[in-house]
Amino acid sequence: MSVIQQTIESNPVQQVVFDNKTTNLLGLDRAALEAFFESIGEKKFRATQVMKWIHQMGVTDFQQMNNLSKDLRRQLSETSCIQNLHVAKDLISKDGTRKWLLQLHDGNNIETVFIPEDDRGTLCVSSQVGCALDCSFCSTGRQGFNRNLTAAEIISQVWLASQLLEEEKKPGRKITNVVMMGMGEPLLNFDNTITAVRIMMDDFAYGLSKRRVTVSTAGVVPAMERLGDTLDMRLAVSLHATNDELRNELVPVNKKYPLKELMAACRRFIDKQNTRSRITFEYVMLDGINDKPEHARELIRLLKGIPTLMNLIPFNPFEGSGYSTSSKKAVTRFREILHASGMTTVVRKTRGDDIDAACGQLAGKIEDKSRRHRRFEEPRFGMEK
Ligand code: SAH
Repeated sequence: MSVIQQTIESNPVQQVVFDNKTTNLLGLDRAALEAFFESIGEKKFRATQVMKWIHQMGVTDFQQMNNLSKDLRRQLSETSCIQNLHVAKDLISKDGTRKWLLQLHDGNNIETVFIPEDDRGTLCVSSQVGCALDCSFCSTGRQGFNRNLTAAEIISQVWLASQLLEEEKKPGRKITNVVMMGMGEPLLNFDNTITAVRIMMDDFAYGLSKRRVTVSTAGVVPAMERLGDTLDMRLAVSLHATNDELRNELVPVNKKYPLKELMAACRRFIDKQNTRSRITFEYVMLDGINDKPEHARELIRLLKGIPTLMNLIPFNPFEGSGYSTSSKKAVTRFREILHASGMTTVVRKTRGDDIDAACGQLAGKIEDKSRRHRRFEEPRFGMEK
């Protein structure tokens, strides 16, 4: 089997290895696809032609790509593939939220959720099978960690959702925004997340603007630095606590990267962005734990000077979590204190909870959970494949 190794110069974070028998073109961004075509003696512009076929027209059969020569179509089908995930379950909630359980080739499953709103349709995409970070209130964390998703497996979620939503032939069922807020910690799967985000933003693929793609992190500080240097997009930070003592308990990655470092990284991220942007902070409201007026006041002090969109998330309970949802009164009082300080604050509506599609309810099905601790202890940012 001939293996052509290629480093993409214009794209320093990416090392692409082409195995000419199995290259899945679905997961290659434009630079990688151009390099792929050059590696088989073709012109670079084939990349944008093929991207359009795959991502905009939804075509996965090379024979249908009628602006490619017959020879090239044959060569592509012999040397590469366009391989999507398998839809194992497809559920629609009373509120229109749609959730897919997607099966990977190794038997693992992940979940992807589409959330329609009046003026937009948001796709919540997974980045890993399970999660290693073990946040105490998150059911994905309880499942343990198995592995990173490949770029193809990440973008396949967008591909499948676009196709399946289009088949509904209903208004308002189009993906206008993507949030990397499904299963996993995207910044611990850095390279594959970035490749997938590039495809989401490419005009020859999904054409989403940088304001419409959000990467969410529990606070992996070195990877946040790298993200700011790599690409413009929206950043969301899962904060959930206003002091280290509580955050260590709720979001254990805080023991490694405490609040002071996290806040400094947020400030640097904002400075690096080309456009004026805000950071979305996510704050899950846990009854009696982090929802008191003094927490709100602490939050205001903590985020001083950072352009903020505050997202208060009512806790979505699951069996054995040990937490309960803050009362409406507590959430309102908390929001009012933040609001009075001038902070833009929204309370996230719980969506799709009847099909377990709400925040923190994504669980998938994991074949081997034993890797959680190994993964968490040795984060080598951006090196994972
Ligand atoms: N690992 C990344 C991406 C996951 S995003 C991150 O932490 O940002 C998923 C969001 O839902 C996070 O803000 C997470 O903290 C929140 N969440 C997890 N469990 C939840 C629950 N049971 N109820 C409400 N929100 C939850």
